[in-house]
Amino acid sequence: MPDNPDVRRIIFLVLLAAAPAAAEQTGECRFDPDTLSFAGTAAEQAACLLRKVEVLGKRKAQPLPPLFARLLDGEALPSAAMMQTALAAFPQPYQDYARIYAAAPLSRTASGLPALYFVIHDTSTPFYADQPFPKRLDTDWQINSFAPYMDGTFAREPVAHIFLSRYGQIWAGHEFQEGWRATKLESRAIGPASRGRFIHIETVQPRRLIAGFTDTGHTHGPEPGFSAAQYRQLAALYVYTSARAGRWLIPAQHNTVDAGIPDAHDDPQNFDLGRFAEEIEAIISPG
Ligand SMILES: [Zn+2]
Repeated sequence: MPDNPDVRRIIFLVLLAAAPAAAEQTGECRFDPDTLSFAGTAAEQAACLLRKVEVLGKRKAQPLPPLFARLLDGEALPSAAMMQTALAAFPQPYQDYARIYAAAPLSRTASGLPALYFVIHDTSTPFYADQPFPKRLDTDWQINSFAPYMDGTFAREPVAHIFLSRYGQIWAGHEFQEGWRATKLESRAIGPASRGRFIHIETVQPRRLIAGFTDTGHTHGPEPGFSAAQYRQLAALYVYTSARAGRWLIPAQHNTVDAGIPDAHDDPQNFDLGRFAEEIEAIISPG
């Protein structure tokens, strides 16, 4: 789920005027406004950013799959062959679109730093309130329609780079060359200087109220949270964007990026890190 920066812009400007001049690290994973990076090695950053996001946004440490330590702190870079395997995994028409931009670099910040963080969201949409989830989430037309993300229902512009349905279809709201923000860290804490450092993937997953509650601050997603096709395409997008970056991007989640900032969103829910790692492995080490 994205953050809308317009709503609190004035409050933010007031807070900004009162903020101390010295650069301070922001949030639980300690984002440095000068380096536009979280604290630690790439794998250490991933360990913080990939903590399990539980219901109501409670974070719990979990082991980092060995794959990520190998990729992030290792020497091996994404290869042209891996890029081709990722491209071949994409559905049409996104595959043709992705091929057009395969040689283009990702976004950069105003200070010239390249995109480094691959941020996974869940859309938290549609919202079913106290009604049950539909029986077949992965083929339900209402859940998987991209229309509300395209037609201005939620925001004037697409809220993320990528929208990924439960049957694995992909719509690009913004090409990865375009710096785009979808977290409070970017829109409120750091501001425009951070734009271009993060790429944002919205993964379709509905919500409903937790039994006994009537407010949208108390919701839960379905279990399992994401479909098999979504894990496959998330992995393909991760390999594709990393290959364009010329290095392995650091995977992150909306909640953990914003952890420590008030009103942090609680997405993605029910994200299985092991499944994500397995699907990346299947693309980079086929057979
Ligand atoms: Zn989000």
